[in-house]
Amino acid sequence: DRLIDATPREREEHIDRAIRPLSLAEYIGQPVVREQMTLFIEAAKKREEALDHTLIFGPPGLGKTTLANIIAQEMGVSLKSTSGPVLERPGDLAALLTNLEEGDVLFIDEIHRLPPIVEEVLYPAMEDFQLDIMIGEGPAARSIKLDLPVFTLVGATTRAGMLTNPLRDRFGIVQRLEFYNDKDLTTIVARSGGILNMPIEQDGAYEIARRARGTPRIANRLLRRVRDFAQVRGTGHITQTIANQALNLLDVDEHGFDHQDRRLLLAMIEKFDGGPVGIDSLAAAISEERHTIEDVLEPYLIQQGFIMRTPRGRVVTRHAYLHFGLNLPERLQD
Ligand code: ADP
Repeated sequence: DRLIDATPREREEHIDRAIRPLSLAEYIGQPVVREQMTLFIEAAKKREEALDHTLIFGPPGLGKTTLANIIAQEMGVSLKSTSGPVLERPGDLAALLTNLEEGDVLFIDEIHRLPPIVEEVLYPAMEDFQLDIMIGEGPAARSIKLDLPVFTLVGATTRAGMLTNPLRDRFGIVQRLEFYNDKDLTTIVARSGGILNMPIEQDGAYEIARRARGTPRIANRLLRRVRDFAQVRGTGHITQTIANQALNLLDVDEHGFDHQDRRLLLAMIEKFDGGPVGIDSLAAAISEERHTIEDVLEPYLIQQGFIMRTPRGRVVTRHAYLHFGLNLPERLQD
């Protein structure tokens, strides 16, 4: 149960609902995405059309689901939500599509995990708003065609590279969410603290923000753990000192790294001479699943410049050696 894991947790759902921004104006950071979406939404509304199908990609916890909800809210339509792995058969998707109202948003999270037979139903639905599906089996099987209401598909994925080309090509709008900078995350922490009635100083919010791996979901989670600490060991006020002490106790260091990040970096340094090392060897060396490394651990370490991807595998950079107070190997000395 990793404190700085950016994937959602069920028990956080009700808090999530309380602090989730509901409009583009409340959506903090991501200036490019915000400006573009504001424009596209305004244009679609002016033309009284549904918004073009929109693909949102970015690591977990950066606000993909939030943005999908905001799109529906700003367009003044309903949102129906599902996810790639849930849609096992074409009929599952057909049931959702035939229940949409004109202009609705259909949100498919983890869209890269749609089974191919379901994805094929999506093509004509996205392009011509037609449902084209086989029902029954064997000699009794027949194909039916239905007109669908014009809708907006919003797809979310953690890795754009996992999408098939035909699916990707059918999105008119593609938005990529970036990790948040400390300033924007500080605003997010202060805003959440305000909504949840937590007394928090600006410095305290900053201390939490800078250790939150550029990720709002992690920032909000750290905020709640720091509040626990403040209430038990302090007066309940979240100051910089309290935040600092709490996060040290929680083993989240000044880069937002925990023992798993440190273990990954140290394995690369100690077992593979800093790399290059292939992802599968690395996964085996630290007994982690490959996709956990690729989706959860690595993106932030790469973004922070501690790991680089090269054609021959991953290598650690000088920052990693310096982080642990180690001498630089020859290849990094100059
Ligand atoms: P994802 O779908 O990418 O995993 P979510 O949309 O569920 O991420 O966002 C995780 C949490 O982070 C939400 O509860 C929301 O409160 C917060 N959040 C995300 N993006 C923003 C933002 N731009 N401004 C403020 N809070 C945000």
